[in-house]
Amino acid sequence: MHSNTADAKGIENRITAEEVNNLQRLCKKVLEPLRAHFGKPIHINSGFRCKEVNAAVHGAPRSYHLQGRAADIPWNKQYFDYIKNNLPHVELINEGGWIHVAV
Ligand SMILES: [Zn+2]
Repeated sequence: MHSNTADAKGIENRITAEEVNNLQRLCKKVLEPLRAHFGKPIHINSGFRCKEVNAAVHGAPRSYHLQGRAADIPWNKQYFDYIKNNLPHVELINEGGWIHVAV
């Protein structure tokens, strides 16, 4: 799976079939409905991270990114509120410059 951090550090961001399923679920439940509602493409800063990539970006050791269940998207209050009020999520965090959402 593509990762700028992995490329820069020579890490293979290896993903399993189960993690791909989780990413598809994340797209279906959150990212695609969000894109459809606002009618604009959504930039994904970070999605799946293998252990090495997660460590390299100082991600939480049990981060949902490790399972392909989380995405980081650029901060947008309308997106944040829409997810909060309309879409399923187990985590929704205002990280300052971006939104972290997990399902
Ligand atoms: Zn995140």
